[in-house]
Amino acid sequence: MKYSCNLIRDLLPLYCDRVCSKDSAEAVQEHISTCEECKNIYIGMQQSISMDSERYEKQQLVSMQKVKKKIKKRNTIFASIGIVAGILFVIIVIRVLLVAGVIIFAVQDGGKHSYTSTDINDYGVFEEFNGYSKLDIFPKQLSDNMEVYKYSYYYADTFLDPTAQIYLECSYEENEYSKEIERLKGIQEEYEGRIQSIVYDTDSFSYPAYVTIDADNHCYEYALLIGGKKIAYVFLQFINEEDIVFPKEYLPKEYEQKETGYSIYLFEYQNGDRHGVY
Ligand SMILES: [Zn+2]
Repeated sequence: MKYSCNLIRDLLPLYCDRVCSKDSAEAVQEHISTCEECKNIYIGMQQSISMDSERYEKQQLVSMQKVKKKIKKRNTIFASIGIVAGILFVIIVIRVLLVAGVIIFAVQDGGKHSYTSTDINDYGVFEEFNGYSKLDIFPKQLSDNMEVYKYSYYYADTFLDPTAQIYLECSYEENEYSKEIERLKGIQEEYEGRIQSIVYDTDSFSYPAYVTIDADNHCYEYALLIGGKKIAYVFLQFINEEDIVFPKEYLPKEYEQKETGYSIYLFEYQNGDRHGVY
């Protein structure tokens, strides 16, 4: 052998890292081709190097994944902030529109966009009423021959549809009662030559009823013959069952359960919307 084992083993790390000179490399190659012991040491070094590099690659991979996760997390945070900002923006826009709408209502109605009364002396004062009805069902005025048991008037202009609940319960003297029934029977509305008449309904209510609006656009208008020459007059527009101020038995049996109904009121509103036209 040209070189001692010790010399070759000193060179082996350099040889493995391929940083020794060409002459040294040739000396190592020549030696390990004949020396079994040095060859084994060389093989051992190679294996540990390859294990090290594998470990290094794994570490690289893990740290890259960590970075990716961080980026992903950051993107998620940015996306969340974006969504929250978007929702806030929409809320602010709606608030501004609402405030503007309220201001418009206030200007139109002289600031009076909600009105409640249970004072019978206010009866017939429907000036601010802008519901989907002409309130034909209600007696134009009260007479001394009537006895009023309950009166309640509620009307509010809201952002979308006005809400209203009007209730009058009264009894008549014999003669007046017949006259009132005749008046109810004759109620009709005309729009562009088309005439719609009041309906006498003995099925939909627990009492016989004269109906001008039934489940049309969440409106109801009817006179209920509740016995003893007593009549209950009702107008409802977008009113929940729990907010009803009169006995529930005076509601239609399927209150707010029908998709569409009918209305005798065939007219256009200022915005061009038609109601009661089918
Ligand atoms: Zn050797």
